[in-house]
Formats: sequence, structure tokens, C-alpha cells
Amino acid sequence: MARLITCTPKRFLAIVRSNSYLYPPQTRHSKLQTGEQFEVTASSVSEKRTSLERFRLKKALKTLGKKEGRGTELVSLFVPPGRQIAEVMSMLRQEYGTASNIKSDTTRKNVQDAITKVMQRLKLFKEVPNNGLVIFSGAIPQNGPGSERMETYVIAPPKPINIYLYRCDPKFHTEHLEDQLREEEAYGIMVVDSTDTTIATLEGNRLQIIREETSGIPGKHRAGGQSARRFERLREANLLAYFKRVGNHANNIFLPVPNLRGLIIGGPGSTKYDFQKGDFLNYMLKQKILDTVDTAYTGEQGIEEVVARAPEILKRVRYVEEKKIVQDFLYQIGHDTGLATYGQEDVKKALEAGAVQTLLLSEGLNTLRVTVKCSACGLEQQEILKESALPQFQQSLIGQLCSNCKASSLSVIEDRDLIDDFAELAEQAGASVEIISIESEEGQMLKNSFGGIAAIMRFKLSS
Ligand SMILES: [Zn+2]
Repeated sequence: MARLITCTPKRFLAIVRSNSYLYPPQTRHSKLQTGEQFEVTASSVSEKRTSLERFRLKKALKTLGKKEGRGTELVSLFVPPGRQIAEVMSMLRQEYGTASNIKSDTTRKNVQDAITKVMQRLKLFKEVPNNGLVIFSGAIPQNGPGSERMETYVIAPPKPINIYLYRCDPKFHTEHLEDQLREEEAYGIMVVDSTDTTIATLEGNRLQIIREETSGIPGKHRAGGQSARRFERLREANLLAYFKRVGNHANNIFLPVPNLRGLIIGGPGSTKYDFQKGDFLNYMLKQKILDTVDTAYTGEQGIEEVVARAPEILKRVRYVEEKKIVQDFLYQIGHDTGLATYGQEDVKKALEAGAVQTLLLSEGLNTLRVTVKCSACGLEQQEILKESALPQFQQSLIGQLCSNCKASSLSVIEDRDLIDDFAELAEQAGASVEIISIESEEGQMLKNSFGGIAAIMRFKLSS
């Protein structure tokens, strides 16, 4: 029987590259800064899971996590699949009634407004979607006290949620969605030495010890009267049989695990290397070995030692992956093969020609494509700016005259992350997208020397 251990929440899987669910582009751009609403809907189009989807959800959750109300007045609602909308509505009506007891006029109004918004959103659904539904709503100060504006966000979770939760707090409760991000990936852990082996799986915070296997091999010291050679031969034969048993169990346990991203092998001595070198593990699992680490203990304690080091191991794995991707790009550039390009315009051209195999986007890009519209004549213009320059840019539009009709009615109607922009192009062109962190030297180079946007190509573009 498998035992279930729930570890204290560890944040480690968030740093690994996902290949996780498709978290599609927001149907409208977030406009989070300007305090409007956004909606993230799950798509059934594709099961493809990329570093991009992860990036999008991470970013949305980060933005939501930072929002704070003036008081205890931000509403978070988690509805699991299978609940009746009518039941949730009646719970919300009750909460609305309870809120009428709040003494502060402002807080009472804000809470009741938030509940109303949530109900309005909920009403749009005939039934709860397959993965459930998450709605956040509340009055968020835009610029100091008194500048609150109602913001409402609807998120379709990437995986079924299993909690029914209504909360009214100074912050939105995003942690359950953050957990889902981590749980997207599974890892296999084995702690091997000559006396026993423990096999476990790690999915998000869920560590499951699946099997313990003992070798039955006596210690290294032979009994009196036994010849040394015979003792060694027997020991080796026993070890071989034990490795075979362990290998079979590991294959049976790990091969069926969906989303198995890798395997970590631990153990106190050198036995783990002997096991790893031999042909005991299925070749597909061998390819997934991320690291082999020394532990002080075997058994469950050994497994926990490996888990404690997992964040660092996984981070290093992604680090190496990212370095390889950027190095591949640098090789093509350095050898002038014509199979790489960079910069917004050239990459866009290559994408449109269907020539891009891998699109590299720097996590440090922080750049927006902003659409400015004149409400008097309807003229629309686009600008590319740094994320941090947006407030100043918006300020600069006040009083600025439209180049077409000379009215002073310019405003930002959309701001879109350049990463989303390019990622969408890549999706249409069938190119894979890699979001590259700025943690490695190569990642820094991608950001600083190549403008954060680069491509490795399938074929040369004739110029
Ligand atoms: Zn105009």
C-alpha cells in the first residue's frame, strides 16, 4: 500500500520549466495595471504544455497576489467541479446579507459590491466547468486611499480544484492555484543501497512512498569458515538479483506516471552508481535521470533528504537546459549558418515565413506593445515600451494632441506583453517557445546583446 505524506509546502517546482498545461493567452489582455477585468479561460484545443503557459499563469498569479484591499474586503471564490451554480449563488446571497452587519460604510459597500460582481460573473455559467471555477473580486486602490476601483477576475484552473472556498480578506487567495502550478509535474525518487531501496514519487507537495525493497544480503563480513571468494560470488549474485527486482519495481511504478519529468537517485554509498550503470532501469527512465546524490540515510529519511535538495537540483537542470538552448543559438550566429536570427523585426519575419523552429524569449524582456487610441477620430497607434515606463507614458498622453484631428483625447486602450505577442505568432507558426530566465550568463546575453528575442530556424530565409 502506498503511503501518503504531505510535505510542508515547498516552492520548488515553480522554478522548473514546465511543459505543463496549456494556459492560453488571456482573451483580452490583462490590463492589470489599469484596474480593469481580465479573464483566463482554459482551452481544450491542445494538451501541449510549455514554459510559456507556465509563464503566463505565473505572471497572472503574481499580479493578483500583489493586490491589496484597504481592509478585509477582497473576495476569493473557489468552486469545485460538480457543484450546482444555484447552490453557490444562494451561499453568496447569504454572505451578502451577513455583510450588511459590517460597521464601516466603505467596507460594507465594497464587500457587497464585490459579492455582487462575483454573482454576476457566476450567472454567466450554466454549470461549473470541468476543472471548476475561480473568481476574484474586490475594490483595489489604484493610487492611494479613495482611488479604489472594482476589479474582477475569472480563472479556469488548469486542473480540477478540490476545494470549495469563499473568503473575504485583505488579499486574494491565489495559493491553491500556485499549488496547481507545482503539481503539474511528477518526479521519481529512489534511494538505493546494498541493504534496501525505497521508491517514491513526488507530485507538487505530495510525496508518496510507493515501495520498499530489501536485499537480504548479509553484511560485508563473511561468516567463519566460508571462503572469501565464494562469499564474494554469492554476494554479487544476490546483489544482481536484488538490482533486477528493484529495477522491475521502478519500471512498473515510474513508467505509467503521467508527466514524469525526471528521476533522482540517492543513497549513502556507491551502490547507487552500480545500480544506475547496469541495465536494470528501462532506457526511457535512464534518460530521465536528473541527478545522483549522496544521502546520509536510506529509507524514508533518505527520500526526505533528496526532496529537500530537489529545488536546487531541478533549478540546475533547467539552468543547463536553458544554457544549451542559448548556446545552440549562439553557435548558429557565430558560424553564420543563416539558421538563427534575433531582434523584433527579423524574428517576426522568420515566424511569418514559418521558418522558426524554436523561439527564444527572455523572461527579462519586460516590454509592452501599447495601443493608443484617439477617442475623437478613432486613430490608433502602437508603441513599444518598457513595462516600467507605462505609467509615465500614460501621464504624457494627457494634454497631448492627436496627430490626425488635433484633439487632446488620446488614451491607452490596450497594453500587451511582447512575450504574449510573439508567443502567439509562434503558436500559429508551429514553432516551439522557450522562456529563458536571466539566471545564466547565456540568459543575460540573450537579454542584453540580442534584445531578448531570438530564433533558431528550420531553414534559411533568402534575403
Ligand atoms: Zn484624433
